[in-house]
Amino acid sequence: MKKLLVFSFTLLFPMAALFGMAQEPVRGKTTFVTIGTGGITGVYYPTGGAIARIVNKNRKMYGIRCTVESTAGSVFNINAVMGGDLDFGIVQSDRQYQALKGDAEWKTKGPQNDLRAVFSIHPESITLVAAGDAGINTFANLKGKRINIGNPGSGQRQNSIDALFANGIDYKKNLIAEGVKAAEAPGLLQDGRIDAFFYTVGHPSGAIKEATAGKRKVKFIAIPNVDKLTAKFPYYAKAYVPIKFYPRSTNKEDVQTFGVKATFITSAKVPENVVYAITKEVFENFEDFKKLHPAYEVLSKQGMLEGLSAPIHKGAIKYYKEAGLK
Ligand code: GLU
Repeated sequence: MKKLLVFSFTLLFPMAALFGMAQEPVRGKTTFVTIGTGGITGVYYPTGGAIARIVNKNRKMYGIRCTVESTAGSVFNINAVMGGDLDFGIVQSDRQYQALKGDAEWKTKGPQNDLRAVFSIHPESITLVAAGDAGINTFANLKGKRINIGNPGSGQRQNSIDALFANGIDYKKNLIAEGVKAAEAPGLLQDGRIDAFFYTVGHPSGAIKEATAGKRKVKFIAIPNVDKLTAKFPYYAKAYVPIKFYPRSTNKEDVQTFGVKATFITSAKVPENVVYAITKEVFENFEDFKKLHPAYEVLSKQGMLEGLSAPIHKGAIKYYKEAGLK
């Protein structure tokens, strides 16, 4: 019997983790849920870790165990959650909006009707980091330079394209666009293999710290025409890169840009009790959660219900009603 139990556990664990099959927890059994995040030097990865840590404290009570996966970012996470390969994902609010409407990357697939919002998390800003010696003093100087605009599957790629377009720069014609993951960009910048990179990320981020901490001096470049972007796209807002987190950059003041919000999403197919338990644990342990990353400094419970465009999952609604938040 004991042997059989061990066998079924070892067999089920990797399968559940691999296929992200969240099912109704059966008494005494553990439901494994996987959260898709981003690169390990971003803020999504530690955010997935923070959620998992809070939920796993009570894993015996709920029979739920959260694991975290490093991924290519928002677009990948939405598609993996919709395909049932992941149970939850952290995604940019603009990507949540586009997937729901069937815009941008979802033009051919159409609206993602099973997409469900759970809560929003930290603000993210479109951050442009340039090497001090690359001759980039203004945004217009990006022309002709080698710039990482973001990997396919990331949230930032479209943000970079939008920022460039709003300033009359066609990324296909006017610059040498690279598509590497944000985690690799700081190393490439320090090695002189790229002149600048875009990253849509919360602050402080490990990747941006890494980029500012090397021998090659770097600076943040402001994004002009933000008003044009916020007027055209409902999901963009004015934002700043907070310089206090990056004392080794050569900037003296916060840098103007635009931003979105990181949001926690799932699928309508994920059981109500699983989403309820995760929502409840994060909100009931809100002060502990906030301490897990400096990017959460600005969070409020009510604010975490803002910036969501997909319908809220019924498990989360159940908790928000109980807690008087909705
Ligand atoms: N915003 C990025 C994306 O959606 C990820 C940022 C992070 O990992 O913190 O791809």
